[in-house]
Amino acid sequence: MTEANRQLAIDVREHLEYLRELGVETMKVELADSPPLDHPVMVVTEEQVSHEKVERFIPDRPFFTKQPLPPPAKPNVPANASRLSLLESTRLSKLNSETPPLKSVLPQISKNEMPKPTVSPATNLFADRNSALPDTGETIEGIRTDIGDCRRCSLCEGRTKIAHSTGSFTADLMFVGEAPGADEDAQGAPFVGRAGQLLTKIIEAIGFKRDDVFIGNINRCRPPMNRAPLPNETAECKPFLLREIAVVRPKVIVVLGNTAMKNLLDTKEGITKIRGIFQDYYGVKVMPTFHPAYLLRDPSKKREVWDDMKKVRDYLNENR
Ligand code: SF4
Repeated sequence: MTEANRQLAIDVREHLEYLRELGVETMKVELADSPPLDHPVMVVTEEQVSHEKVERFIPDRPFFTKQPLPPPAKPNVPANASRLSLLESTRLSKLNSETPPLKSVLPQISKNEMPKPTVSPATNLFADRNSALPDTGETIEGIRTDIGDCRRCSLCEGRTKIAHSTGSFTADLMFVGEAPGADEDAQGAPFVGRAGQLLTKIIEAIGFKRDDVFIGNINRCRPPMNRAPLPNETAECKPFLLREIAVVRPKVIVVLGNTAMKNLLDTKEGITKIRGIFQDYYGVKVMPTFHPAYLLRDPSKKREVWDDMKKVRDYLNENR
């Protein structure tokens, strides 16, 4: 097979995957405008894609909300386009994925006002990022006992309940968010509000039950006005999560949103830059993706999250 044919096969496969995800069941094809070929090649002239299917995105999967989406844009393809130019002009990479600016509700804090992070002794366990996950010999129960009625940072002052991590202590898959919101603060568990319900659907969409995975946050107490945790607050709380990761030893960690990603990976990169690309955390695969709360504000981003979750699902299937 020549390189051009191999690339064409990859493009066709990508295209068929895309159509399948959109719920296309049948399509009509005509060859009249195509250049002469040895073998017939299909050119789509009519798609039988219902709006309902596009909204749901994945047939028979409760991943997407019923929020209406605009009709899919028709590719601008010249009538006499060749197969390659047709595929090139309709590749997924050409889809408009401009992100509307996310309005921050946080107060503006200058760098000089930022408190300097303190280093917890537990952080030393995780000092060498090039090593494997440390074997700490701890248990989740022991870490909870250590946390106790924690007052290590000022977030304790406004909390109702500490929202400890939940789920399976032997999970292959772990999700890490930023900090509790109002529902989580009231119930003392992470991801139990609307964003949490969407996270449950995301988990189920890749074939897991919520109880099969481990879910936690960088910070366990709700920041006032749902602002992002400050560096000194994450410095105090993050070691608890790191110690839990060393106990659970998941194969994949999905970090949800910019704050969680930057804190777990100690990176200055933004979520839009490394979203969808596996990162490394002490030998554990880390998939950065958008936070479910962001998806509630901008449902068009569900496509990217679904793409990321398929990579996670495939990796776990290949590494059972
Ligand atoms: S956020 Fe974490 S470190 Fe701060 S008080 Fe709550 S449990 Fe303790």
